[in-house]
Amino acid sequence: KIRVRYAPSPTGHLHIGNARTALFNYLYARHNKGTFVIRIEDTDTKRNIADGEKSQLDNLRWLGLDWDEGPDKPGNFGPYRQSERKDIYEPLIQELLAKDLAYESYMTEDELLAQREEQQARGEAPRYVYEYAGMSAEEIAQSQAAAREKGIKPVIRIRVPQNVTYTWDDIVKGEISFQSDTIGGDFVIQKRDGMPTYNFAVVVDDHMMEITHVLRGDDHVANTPKQLAVYQAFGWEAPTFGHMSLIINTETGKKLSKRDESVLQFIEQYRELGYLPEAMFNFITLLGWSPVGEDEIFTRQQFIKMFDPKRLSKSPAAFDGKKLEWINNQYVKAAKDDEIVDSALLQLIKAGKLPADPDCMTIEWGRKLIDLYKQQMSYTGQIVEMADIFFNEPLELTEEATAELANEDAKTVITEFAKRAQDLTIFDAAQIQAMIKSIQKDTKIKGRKLFMPIRIATTREMHGPELAPAIELLGREKALSHLEKTLA
Ligand code: GLU
Repeated sequence: KIRVRYAPSPTGHLHIGNARTALFNYLYARHNKGTFVIRIEDTDTKRNIADGEKSQLDNLRWLGLDWDEGPDKPGNFGPYRQSERKDIYEPLIQELLAKDLAYESYMTEDELLAQREEQQARGEAPRYVYEYAGMSAEEIAQSQAAAREKGIKPVIRIRVPQNVTYTWDDIVKGEISFQSDTIGGDFVIQKRDGMPTYNFAVVVDDHMMEITHVLRGDDHVANTPKQLAVYQAFGWEAPTFGHMSLIINTETGKKLSKRDESVLQFIEQYRELGYLPEAMFNFITLLGWSPVGEDEIFTRQQFIKMFDPKRLSKSPAAFDGKKLEWINNQYVKAAKDDEIVDSALLQLIKAGKLPADPDCMTIEWGRKLIDLYKQQMSYTGQIVEMADIFFNEPLELTEEATAELANEDAKTVITEFAKRAQDLTIFDAAQIQAMIKSIQKDTKIKGRKLFMPIRIATTREMHGPELAPAIELLGREKALSHLEKTLA
């Protein structure tokens, strides 16, 4: 039975790359009717942020993910926060110490730094060099006792055997091997503060939680041999690993990094802008994974049905913001009107274009406005700029627009429109449409020569949404005042 996990460190908000990891594990579990576990890796206490865990989970839920076991969903393998599992790690550390597969190391941070600097100066890769080389067991014990006396706290290091090759058959990358002497020497499994390190805790937890497949980011490839060393020290069988290709920002051509400001990288930011969760889910699933065929728009259920980790790509995934906009627009167009209206209204309120507590009339007006733009919106946050003419002072006419009006027909149309608009009993799209028709009939001016002057005079733009409803939403007063400004 397949058991997979997403193991966020609550050191920040949900990043696109992490969301992708979560999503692929989720899809893999659901496709195979397996179990999806969330485990919080919070042993790096200095880097944890206050609402890190909550934000991670909230955003995963927003994306439409659910899980079978996790910090908020107790199962048989808890607790699901590493900080609450110290009682599980401690005896295992003691077991390795007792078997002499691990030892206390009293090198101070300064000494370690000096060691690294010397190695760097010699052009060597930094590695920890065994501090007790050539000493007898007795001498080691003495040296350690002396260090303790000085108040130095030890770390615990695991012995990395020499001349061993760590090999695994990666689901994504195929066979990968590391020689044991290239992984940096005996590495720390317990820090000075008594917390286990990531490379230790992750192995213990994956083993204890009976995780069968570890799908994670490419940045963990170099950790895998260390984790294999821990599995071997305990004589445990390792899970199957798959390391997903890194994500490249198509704008810069570089690896997507959290410092890169040319693109929004946190799920929360897209959520704020009014992106739809289903669209984000769709987009992220295509980051480094592809279905058979050319289609790109699928529902969550379809993705679950199709998901095959063999189709995870070896080459880097391109993060293309334009594609995300396109996908989101597909979802906006297909979404229920209410969903878009709610989301776009919220955007208008946030931007201060509508009152925080709009009355029925305002909501009705907003609904019609959003309807006008629904087809064009990539994400609902765009309504704020798109619908600019309804909220701001009339625009200055462009030269091109002014030129459009410099003829007798245009003047006739606008004057007629002004006259008749005063008399309309109800100023709505249907009546406005009928009025424009009557102008056509009486003046014999039609087509572009009829519509363009009216559009420019009322909206002060040459392009925009459907004309009659737009004029209705401007309202008689605003439409006419724009028109007067144009005639003046
Ligand atoms: N806590 C690790 C991270 O956030 C998890 C890595 C893993 O999946 O093993 O990168």
